[in-house]
Amino acid sequence: MIYKGNIEKMKTKLSAEVEYCIPVGEEYVSLNDFIGKPIKLSFQNQINCVACGKKTNKSFSQGFCYNCFMEAPEASKCILHPDKCQAHLGISRDMEWSKNHCLTPHVVYLSVSSNLKVGITRQSQIPTRWIDQGATAAVIIAETPNRHIAGIIEKYLMQFFSDKTSWQKMLKGVNNDIDLNKEKEAAISYLPEELKQYCKLDHEITTIDFPISEYPAKILSQSFDKTNVLEGTLTGIKGQYLYINNSQVINVRKHRGYLVEIEL
Ligand SMILES: [Zn+2]
Repeated sequence: MIYKGNIEKMKTKLSAEVEYCIPVGEEYVSLNDFIGKPIKLSFQNQINCVACGKKTNKSFSQGFCYNCFMEAPEASKCILHPDKCQAHLGISRDMEWSKNHCLTPHVVYLSVSSNLKVGITRQSQIPTRWIDQGATAAVIIAETPNRHIAGIIEKYLMQFFSDKTSWQKMLKGVNNDIDLNKEKEAAISYLPEELKQYCKLDHEITTIDFPISEYPAKILSQSFDKTNVLEGTLTGIKGQYLYINNSQVINVRKHRGYLVEIEL
C-alpha cells in the first residue's frame, strides 16, 4: 500500500508491546504488523506548519513555521521551562489554550529511558509521554493542580536527578538496573515540606515493552533534511523512532508536518 500526506507524531497504545500508528494526511497507518517487512519513506520536499498549515522551508521546534514558533502557545517558553509558566497568574500567549494545557492536573515522574530521569507532563498524557521518550519503566512522584507547581517540583529535583535522556543509549537498549520505588522514596525525601503535600505515596510502576527484538550496537541517525528516501526492512519501533535495517533510525516526531509518501 502507498500512503501520502503530511506526517504527524506516531499515536501509541500501551499493550503487551506498544502499538504504533503513524498519521499520514487523513489516514492512520498501523505499523506493528509491518515489522520485519519492507518499508519505503520518500520525502516530497514540502513541509507544512502543524499549527497554521502554511508551507515552510524549515521546521522550527518540531513542526512549526517561524511565525507560529514565535506566536503559537504550543511553542511557548513554558513548554521548555514549566517552572516559568505564568498561566496561573493569567499570563500566557493564549489563555484558552493554557486553560486546557497548563491549568490542568500535571504529574512529576521518574522514568528509565537509558538513564534515570525526572520529568513532568499533563496527567492526560500518561503513558503517552513515557512511550514517546522510549522509557521502559516509570513511576509518578507527585500530582499537582497545574503545570507551574509541577515545574517547580521538577526544577527542585533536577539538583539530584537528570532531566535528559540519551537518545542514542535509549535506541541501543542500554538499560541500567534501577529500583524506581527506592528512587521515588529518595526524591520525596529531598523535597521541602510545602512541595511534599503533592506527592503520591503508592508503589505503582508502569512498565513498557516496545516492538523491537534486537537492538543495534551502532545507531545511524537519518533525517529528511539529509536524505529524501529511506528504504529497507522495518526492524523495530521505540519512542518516536523507526528502525530501518536494524541500525538506521528516524525520529518521526522531528518530521511533523513533512509531506511523505510511505510504501508498506
Ligand atoms: Zn505556522
